[in-house]
Amino acid sequence: MMTCAQVADVVRDHELGRLPGRARWSVRLHLLMCDGCRRYWRQLRAVAGLLQAQPEAPPEPDAEAALLARFRARRDEPGAS
Ligand SMILES: [Zn+2]
Repeated sequence: MMTCAQVADVVRDHELGRLPGRARWSVRLHLLMCDGCRRYWRQLRAVAGLLQAQPEAPPEPDAEAALLARFRARRDEPGAS
């Protein structure tokens, strides 16, 4: 059984899939049994998820087209000059 300190050391590698099978299972087993490390692991995942999600956030590619369409529609209105 790994100690909490050992898990804290490798849990990042675990998330990145860098641990070999046996170490991975040791980490998972510890996370199942240890509240403190599980909390730490969840926080790490949450932070990592945020960091990963940011660059992939969709920049709303339709926003410009929608604006343009609205502008054209207004320009083509009979009453507009
Ligand atoms: Zn622990």
